[in-house]
Amino acid sequence: MTSPIKLDRGGRSVVITCDECPHWAAVRTNLVEARECAANHEHMMHPEHDVHGSARRMRQQYARRRADSAPQMPVEPYKTTGL
Ligand SMILES: [Zn+2]
Repeated sequence: MTSPIKLDRGGRSVVITCDECPHWAAVRTNLVEARECAANHEHMMHPEHDVHGSARRMRQQYARRRADSAPQMPVEPYKTTGL
């Protein structure tokens, strides 16, 4: 399935447009924010597509798996100087 929402990456910004909403556009300064904006627009206006929303869920699952599998640093008890 394709999404009507497009991300156009420029040098310092990302322009988000929607083929089905010619009156709507957004600009974000980085790709992370642009993807979030696209997912939010899709969720509110075009839930039948679920392309950007699905990608967002996959990114969140990946981040959770990485956090769960990261080695845990041992926590040392707080040491006082005895003063
Ligand atoms: Zn739209």
